[in-house]
Amino acid sequence: MNLAHLLLKQARRDPSRPAIFSGADCVATHGEWAERAARVGARLQAQGLVPGDRVVLFMHNHPRYLELLFGAWWAGLVVVPVNAKLHVKELQWIVDNAQVRWAFVSNGTVPNPAEVTGLDGVMDVDSGECGAWLNEGAGLSDIEARSPDDTAWLFYTSGTTGRPKGVMITHRNLMTMGLTYFNDVDPIAAEDAIAYAAPMSHGAGLYAIPHLMAGARHVVPASGGFDAAELFALGREIGPLSLFAAPTIVKRIVEQAELEQRSPAECGHSFKTIVYGGAPMYAADIQRALRVMGPRFVQIYGQGESPMTGTALSRAQIANATHPSHAEHLASVGVAQTPVGIRVAGPDGQALPPGEVGEVLIQGDSVMAGYWRNPEATASAIRNGWLWTGDMGALDAEGFLTLKDRSKDLIISGGSNIYPREVEEVLLTAPGVAEVAVVGTPDAEWGESVVAFVVPQAGLSVALDAQALDAFCLEHIARFKRPKRYEIVDSLPKNNYGKVLKTALREQVDLGEKGKT
Ligand code: ATP
Ligand code: MG
Repeated sequence: MNLAHLLLKQARRDPSRPAIFSGADCVATHGEWAERAARVGARLQAQGLVPGDRVVLFMHNHPRYLELLFGAWWAGLVVVPVNAKLHVKELQWIVDNAQVRWAFVSNGTVPNPAEVTGLDGVMDVDSGECGAWLNEGAGLSDIEARSPDDTAWLFYTSGTTGRPKGVMITHRNLMTMGLTYFNDVDPIAAEDAIAYAAPMSHGAGLYAIPHLMAGARHVVPASGGFDAAELFALGREIGPLSLFAAPTIVKRIVEQAELEQRSPAECGHSFKTIVYGGAPMYAADIQRALRVMGPRFVQIYGQGESPMTGTALSRAQIANATHPSHAEHLASVGVAQTPVGIRVAGPDGQALPPGEVGEVLIQGDSVMAGYWRNPEATASAIRNGWLWTGDMGALDAEGFLTLKDRSKDLIISGGSNIYPREVEEVLLTAPGVAEVAVVGTPDAEWGESVVAFVVPQAGLSVALDAQALDAFCLEHIARFKRPKRYEIVDSLPKNNYGKVLKTALREQVDLGEKGKT
C-alpha cells in the first residue's frame, strides 16, 4: 500500500485529464503530475534518502506542493508538513525532533537555508534546479512498497495547548480518510474542483486525497492564500469550488457574498461545498451563512490524531436545522463518520449515558499510529484501543455529538463546571460584540473565576461596558457562569490556523494580576 498508487491509477485512467491549477491555469494533467512525482522520488533516492526518511515541506500554498508531496511518497518517504508562517526556530525544532533529511522551501520561508542545521539538503521550489528535478529525466519508475502501518505524514499538532507533538499518520489512515470523505462529507465527482484556501500544510492539504481518488481538479489560488473575492471570481471562471475553511474564514466568505450582494443561487456558481471545522462554529454564524449562501456547508470534527475523521454534520442535517425540531443539531458536530466509533466516556473509559458530559474517544482505522518517539504521550492518548481526544462532549440519543470544550479549558469555579464555550455563545449574541474568548483564572475564594476577553464590533458609537455585558449574561445563563471580569481588547491572540490561544490569554490575566500587587 502506498498513497502514490492513487496518483498512478488516475494517470493510467486518463493521463490528459487536467489535474493541478494555478489560479485558472492548468499547470499539470494527471499524467504530468505522476511523471513529475516519479522524477522527484527518483532524485530524492539519488541523494541517498531511503524509505522511511523524513522530508519537510516548508512551503506556502504552491502548485508544486502536490507534485512534491506525491514525489516523496513515491520514494516511500515520510512527509513532514510545516506551516510556512512558523518561525525558523520552530522549524529547526521540528527538523531536530523528526530528524529530517531534506527540506523543500518556498520563496521567503527561509531567508537563508544555512540557518537551518542538520539537513542534507534544502531546495527552493521555485528554483531552476527544482524545475529540473520535476521535468527532466526518466518517466515513471516503480513506487516503493509500503506497509499500511508505515507513516506517510508526520504532522505536528498546532500547539494550541502546548509543545507540538509529531503525529504519525499512516498510509492506511489517509486511505481511510479519503474513502470516508465520499460517504460522510461530500460525494466528489470528476468535474469537481478543490481549492486550497487554507494552508496545505494543515489538514486542508489532505483533501487532495479524496479529490485525487475522484480524478477531480486541484486549484491553488494565484494569491497563494485566502482572498474571498478571488475565490468568488475563480469559481465563476472555472466552475464551483469546494474547500475546507476554519469558522473565521467561513465568516469572511459570507461577508464577501453580502458585499457583492450575491444571492444563494449566485453563490452556487462560485462554491459547491464548504467544509468547516477545526474550531467551534457558533450557531448564529452558521445560520447566517445558510441564509446568505444556501445549503452548501458540511461540518467535520476531528483532530491531527484522527485527521478529519471524527464526526460530520451533513449538508442536509445543516439545511434541515432551520426546522425547529432539528435546530439543536446545528450546535452539534454531527454523528460518527463511517469508519470510526465515537464514545463519550468517564475517567474509567466506560461509555456514559446520553446527555452526560465526558471525554470524547475515537476508535477506528483513521486513528494515528502514535506520537513520534514519544511513548508516554502515546500511552496517555491511546488507551484500550481508543483515542482520548482531550475534548469534552455529550452524545444525544440519536448519536449527535455536542462538544463542550477542551478538558484543559474547563473552568471549575466554586466546585461547578463551567464550559467557556457556553459563555462565549451567549456573549457573542450581545449587542456590539464581535469576538469573545472566556478563560478561567486562579481565584482564592472560588478556585477559579471566569474572565471574558471581548473584541467590540468595528465602528461602535458607544464603547462596550462590563455592566451591560453582565446584565446581558444574567438574562441568559446561570449566575455562577457569568464572567467576574471583562477585558475589552482590540483582538485575540491566535495561532497560524486562526485558533484562539487560551494559554496566552490565561498568562495575560496572571500577569495583569501580578502587576496590581
Ligand atoms: P494541539 O493539539 O497542538 O494543542 P490543536 O488541538 O488545536 O493543537 P488540531 O489537532 O489541529 O490541533 O485541532 C483539533 C482540535 O480542534 C480538536 O481536538 C477540537 O478541540 C477542535 N475542533 C476540531 N473540529 C472542531 C469542530 N468542528 N468544532 C469545534 N471544535 C473543533
Ligand atoms: Mg489537539
